[in-house]
Parts: sequence; C-alpha cells; structure tokens
Amino acid sequence: MKRVLSAIQPTGDMHYGNYFGAVKNWVDLQDKYECVYGVVDYHAMTMPYNPKKLRENTWDVIFNLLAVGVNVENLFIQSLVPEHTELNWILSCFSSYGQLTRMTQFKDKSAQNKAGEESFISSGLLSYPILQAADILIYKADFVPVGKDQQQHLELTRNIAQRFNNQMGKEYFVLPEILFTETPKIMSTADPMKKMSKSAGEKHSISLFADEKVIMKRIKSAVTDTGEKTDTMSPGIANLFMLLKASNKMDIHTSLMDDYNNNALKYVDLKEAVAQTLIELSTQFKAKKAEFLTNKKDIKNQIKYSSSQIRKIAQETIKEVKELTGLGNVRF
Ligand code: AMP
Repeated sequence: MKRVLSAIQPTGDMHYGNYFGAVKNWVDLQDKYECVYGVVDYHAMTMPYNPKKLRENTWDVIFNLLAVGVNVENLFIQSLVPEHTELNWILSCFSSYGQLTRMTQFKDKSAQNKAGEESFISSGLLSYPILQAADILIYKADFVPVGKDQQQHLELTRNIAQRFNNQMGKEYFVLPEILFTETPKIMSTADPMKKMSKSAGEKHSISLFADEKVIMKRIKSAVTDTGEKTDTMSPGIANLFMLLKASNKMDIHTSLMDDYNNNALKYVDLKEAVAQTLIELSTQFKAKKAEFLTNKKDIKNQIKYSSSQIRKIAQETIKEVKELTGLGNVRF
C-alpha cells in the first residue's frame, strides 16, 4: 500500500483554508492509503511563540483533526518522534542555502516579523523547509496532500532527496508527489488577494469551530468587487463560489452561477448561501469535538501510543541513513 504523509502546525485555530486545501483530503485518503499525519510542534517554534500555548495548541489541533474525521491511529505529535530533528541535520548538509532564501514563505514571514514588534528572524524560519523535508522523507512517503502554498517546499524536498540519492549513489529516498484537493487555495475573505491564514491576522481566517455570529460577520463583510464592470470574475466573488463548491453545495452553486452569468447575481444571496454552508459544517465539527473532549485522557494516551508506533518507521530510516552516510560506530 502506498504511503501518504502530511502535517499541520499547532499555531492556533484550524481554519477553512486548512480544511478545504488539505485536511479534507487527509480524511478522504484514509480509505485508500497508509496515512501518517503529524502535528508538527517543532515547526511552530520558528515564529515568536509562548511555550504554554504551544502545548495547549498541539492538543487542540489533535482534537480538531479527530473532530473532522482523521483516525486516531494515523496521528502523531512530531516532538514525540525526535528522529525528525536528527534527519533534519543530516539533510541540511544536502540542502542549498540559496534555494532556502528564495522560498516565498520565508520572504513573507520574515517581512511580517520585521514589520512586527520584534524584528527578530530566527534561522529556524529559514531552515524549516529542511525539517519539513525530513518529516516527509523519514516515512518514505509516496504522496503528500498539502495546499498550493506548500508546492515550493515540496519541490525543495524532492531536490534534497535527489541530491542525497545522487551523492550516496543509491535511489534511497522516495521522491514524494504532491496531492492537491480540488480547491488547493482558499483566499482571505477580508483580502482575497492573500491566502486565508491565521498568521496574517484575525480577520484573514475563519475557524472551523467558529460561532455562527463570527461566520456571519466574516462572510457578510467579505470583499467582493469595486463595483466596476469587468470581464473576469473578481477574486472575492470567485473565492465565495469556491467555498460553496468545496462544500459540495453544487445545486446552489449552479443556480447562483447562472445568476452571475446573467448579470443577475445579488451578492447578498451568495453571501447568505456561503455563510449558511459554513455554519452547518462548523456546527457538525463542534459537536464532534465536544464528544471527543469528554474522553480527553483516553485520547491523549491513544495519541502517545500511535506516536510510538509511527516512531518505529522513523527509527528504521535513521538507522539506514546513518549506515549510508558513514555516521555512527555501526562498523567498529
Ligand atoms: P499550516 O497551517 O501552515 O500548517 O498548513 C496546514 C495545511 O493547510 C498545509 O497543507 C497547507 O498547505 C494548507 N493550507 C493552509 N492555508 C491554506 C489556504 N489558505 N488554502 C489552502 N490550503 C491551505
């Protein structure tokens, strides 16, 4: 069976960009592949953070993932598998510094830090795509279901794996392939030129567990267009239609699209339909999460166990990598 690997950072609430861009796929793929899904807490240290919050958020994301349908045995917490950091070092010696500095996400996030109160940019922010490569390669994953924003990082992973294989003279690492959902990029409703993201600020994301009022507010105030007539659909309107489609509301999507094509679309109708759709989804997610939270202790133990099982794969890879790279006193 082919293996799938994906991961999410515990940096705050999960939003609809995460869900439609990646996590919905995680759930669907579980029937077809061997799936390994990580909550990557080491990654969350690249930006200024609070240790207590990090631990809270890590467990919160675990419960969020369970609530949307990820199976407990497929989940692990990255820092419970420390081999990721060991492979990270080894791979950093096969990574190009220049390529890292050209990563769009590094440029965006370092600009964000520079503009913020703390002008500190950690070297972790620069090198974290190597850790991401280690996350993927350590499981020899065939497929990686992530959003479009991660495409460049996946290319880097493939480059690192290729360079490693070339230098070792062996096709050791599998070159992973990206798996997109049909909606690989959800935009911010407040600024449809930017991707929906929790780090861009509150108004730029909609939580999967948001209250009805918040969803209403975000969608009602969604940027649509400037009112000027253009030949192409504005990014804001396209994003709202995309949310309907991603939620499988095809009937209403078709009917509103007909209105749009006949110049008869009332934005208020489109917004109402999107808001009701997200409210329906969030209501289900909240109920499921509450159910899992009643078994908090038991679930935490299950996650520790699944992490230890998944760790066995990582340990095996590290053993082989050390053998290949001349590390460790394996041959006294
Ligand atoms: P992160 O929250 O950055 O750890 O991202 C977790 C997953 O969600 C990754 O696979 C991202 O590609 C995906 N993702 C994050 N934001 C978006 C977005 N606005 N649209 C689509 N996918 C996204």
